[in-house]
Amino acid sequence: MAPIKLAEIVGHTNLVKRLEIAILAARKRKHALPHILLDGPPGLGKTTLARVMANEMGASSFMLSGPNIANIENLMAPVYRLSFCDVLFIDEIHTIPQLAAESLLTVMENSRSDELFDDFAASVYLPAFTLVGATTELGKLPGPFIDRFGIHATLDFYTIAQLTNIIYNYDKQQGDGNITYAAAGTIARRSLGTPRTAIKLHNMCQDYCLAHDLAEMNVKHVDAAMAISGIDTNGLTTAHRRYINALTDKPQGIGTLSAKTGLSTSTIELTIEPYLLRQGRVVRTPRGRVLPSI
Ligand code: ADP
Repeated sequence: MAPIKLAEIVGHTNLVKRLEIAILAARKRKHALPHILLDGPPGLGKTTLARVMANEMGASSFMLSGPNIANIENLMAPVYRLSFCDVLFIDEIHTIPQLAAESLLTVMENSRSDELFDDFAASVYLPAFTLVGATTELGKLPGPFIDRFGIHATLDFYTIAQLTNIIYNYDKQQGDGNITYAAAGTIARRSLGTPRTAIKLHNMCQDYCLAHDLAEMNVKHVDAAMAISGIDTNGLTTAHRRYINALTDKPQGIGTLSAKTGLSTSTIELTIEPYLLRQGRVVRTPRGRVLPSI
């Protein structure tokens, strides 16, 4: 279960402040929240924020995934079911087909959909709703589309302290409730700045403790669970190490790296690279990926 109140969201301080104001204003105006665009690597809380927004407005949220939207009908069928102030979350919004994106623009602009019936055209008016678009590739969204969002934020990686709090609270609320604060810190340092990784690693360590009948999840047990899974003290997995070992001081395309490592291009782009790029352990140039020059 994700946090359900904005006040429970750890991190993203400025965005949370902006959203608080938007919520207060929307409630006073008795209007839906503005459309919100969130960009950043996976696992940083985009879906969670969309759920929180709907909850704060006393409305429902509906989740769509861009790659599952093949045509206008796939997109508009859920749009027609929205009620006033509902939140429609579209993950990887940059992947939706152009015609569907154009329909979405009309709906975003004035809650109106222009429909072509058998022998006439008509505009269908919809209740005001909020689109929360999420993307890991902002560069693939056309400028006019980005402009339609009233709020646009880039989500950044979390600090160790923030992740420690997320892990500790998660364990108390939804886990076995036996983690030490130091152990939460040890997991946080290996979470690659990402809450989703933090929760996954927490659950792995929890299984380890349960399987060994350990009453407490402490640093020693976390270290042992991580060692079994090949996760190093910085949180890098065998896949990360394979990728780093494949890099050279000559730029290489993603296809070459995929062939060399056996990892799919999407795994490389979405799971492996974001944190390594941020850490400066790989550099992206127009000619490909390269080791940083020392
Ligand atoms: P995204 O949509 O960006 O891929 P999610 O919203 O699915 O990320 O978040 C991944 C996990 O991390 C979820 O289990 C969520 O509960 C947790 N999480 C994300 N952001 C936060 C946060 N700011 N505070 C607490 N937990 C969070």
